[in-house]
Amino acid sequence: MVDIRLIPCLSDNYAVLVHTGDETILIDAPEAGPIKAALAEEGWTLTTILVTHHHTDHVQAIDAVKGSAKVIGPKAEADRIKELDETLDDGAEFTLGGLEVKAIATPGHTSGPLSYYFPGAGIAFTADTLFAMGCGRLFEGDPATMWNSFKTLRAALPDDTKIYCGHEYTLTNARYGHQALPEDAAIAERLKVVEAARERGEPTVPTTMAAEKATNPFMRADDPSVAAQLGMAGADPVEVFAHLRKGRDSF
Ligand code: ZN
Ligand code: FE
Repeated sequence: MVDIRLIPCLSDNYAVLVHTGDETILIDAPEAGPIKAALAEEGWTLTTILVTHHHTDHVQAIDAVKGSAKVIGPKAEADRIKELDETLDDGAEFTLGGLEVKAIATPGHTSGPLSYYFPGAGIAFTADTLFAMGCGRLFEGDPATMWNSFKTLRAALPDDTKIYCGHEYTLTNARYGHQALPEDAAIAERLKVVEAARERGEPTVPTTMAAEKATNPFMRADDPSVAAQLGMAGADPVEVFAHLRKGRDSF
């Protein structure tokens, strides 16, 4: 049995705890207080920290929460994550507490981030690459690089995978998606669901790959109906993706 705890941190970050048996895995460490409080409440002791990428809002609390946990993260960003005890390449497969884990390189937001997929548990952590209804800003990559990462995730994660992302950006993403694609009924419908959840103060994370395939404009950059609604019928998906990202940058 796998227990999962989503921990709101800072203004809109999420950390996640995955617990099974004697193993407790933390994905990213934005803020010590809420992570320590969650561990104390559950009576869990951290054994592993999986780091997605080098940004401060994902690594700054590692030292404060780690205790005797092993800190594992992307080799491609190891020079920028001083806390790492072990590094992983794209495609690395390993087990933690009997749970299978796969590391998937998803560059675009930064140059060498990893997403983590737990196939047996049906969960994945995509940090600032794939957001619910959105995609991360392109700080260290171009639209072609990020679109490729989206296709990699789409191919790797089954529809029912529960996807945890690094921030609660869904309401803004949904409003943007609805503005960009006003004729799209699935996006309009999900916007209502997201608005209601946020009004109740509830998280919109995790999402699922099925929901992202249906309502994430960026995941649908190769969907002819998306290109057509943007007046870009027949355009290369990279161009559609770039257009959508540019619009979101100024939304
Ligand atoms: Zn980031
Ligand atoms: Fe972030």
